[in-house]
Amino acid sequence: MNESPLPSAAGLAGVVDEHLRWIGQWHRAAFFNQGDGVVLPVPTAFPAWVRGASGSELADQPAIDRLISLHDQMHRMARLVHMRACEGQPPSLAAYEAVIEKFDEFMGLLRRVERAFSVAGSGIDPLTGLRNRTGLREEMEREANRYRRTGRPFCVALCDLDKFKSVNDTYGHEAGDRVLMAAAGAINRGIRSFDEAFRLGGEEILILLKDATVMDGYAVVERLRQDMEALPVAIGGGRTIHFTASFGLAEAQPDGDPEDLVAEADAALYTAKHQGRNRVVSAGAPPRVAGLP
Ligand code: GH3
Ligand code: MG
Ligand code: MG
Repeated sequence: MNESPLPSAAGLAGVVDEHLRWIGQWHRAAFFNQGDGVVLPVPTAFPAWVRGASGSELADQPAIDRLISLHDQMHRMARLVHMRACEGQPPSLAAYEAVIEKFDEFMGLLRRVERAFSVAGSGIDPLTGLRNRTGLREEMEREANRYRRTGRPFCVALCDLDKFKSVNDTYGHEAGDRVLMAAAGAINRGIRSFDEAFRLGGEEILILLKDATVMDGYAVVERLRQDMEALPVAIGGGRTIHFTASFGLAEAQPDGDPEDLVAEADAALYTAKHQGRNRVVSAGAPPRVAGLP
């Protein structure tokens, strides 16, 4: 349950501000200071942000590479126009527009990345609206403390969508995303108001069932499983598909380690997958026989 450090969205807001100032300076230097050899300040906020964010899981994605390359191209083109201006040669319309086009593209992507990071930094997964791992450990420790005080246990359920790869392969990644959103919606509607759900990554969701024995937890999660199974998901073009999920459930032990509890739920989930999927398996309990009360 390691939490990777988040690159700061606030740092990116500084990059936006710096580039808004810079483009004004560039305009003045390109059009009004010809021959003066005016030094154009080089913005430093973006390279500094990239250095600070390197190594973070979130920064390691294609949008950041694209941002870096747009930034390089924009400054290279802008420098060329500025150098010519210093030699007394005003920019051609084409050279001017090429810089402005890169600037617009860079700023557009920068703002999107900034928004995405500020959502990620808030602890909310943007696709599903569920919480991400941020705060999971604290939430589990708070619940373990409540257990110690009150003697009433809690449970963890791990939910993993069944054969999800084949949903993507058959209907496309966007349809897969819609299934994920539908699963998250079913969880939000199906859990009790004080329970919490965290998207751990991919199509795996952890549900923290507070103040619940394994019997209470089983009732909640089994209802969830049935809700998901019955839920049609619209995937565009008037088509709907169905999906199922498997669940591993484990009840906390007094003074137990949260990591061990998650590992127990994970082992139960593995059993659920092995027994044929679309079922709830409780850790330590004998397998349920379908059709029996
Ligand atoms: P199993 O029933 O054993 O869980 O099979 P599975 O196909 O669900 O398991 P597997 O772990 O092989 O595949 C998980 C897939 O989830 C692979 C990955 O492409 C997809 N996936 C992970 N995150 C996302 C996402 O955000 N959107 C979409 N559309 N797919 C995702
Ligand atoms: Mg799966
Ligand atoms: Mg999985």
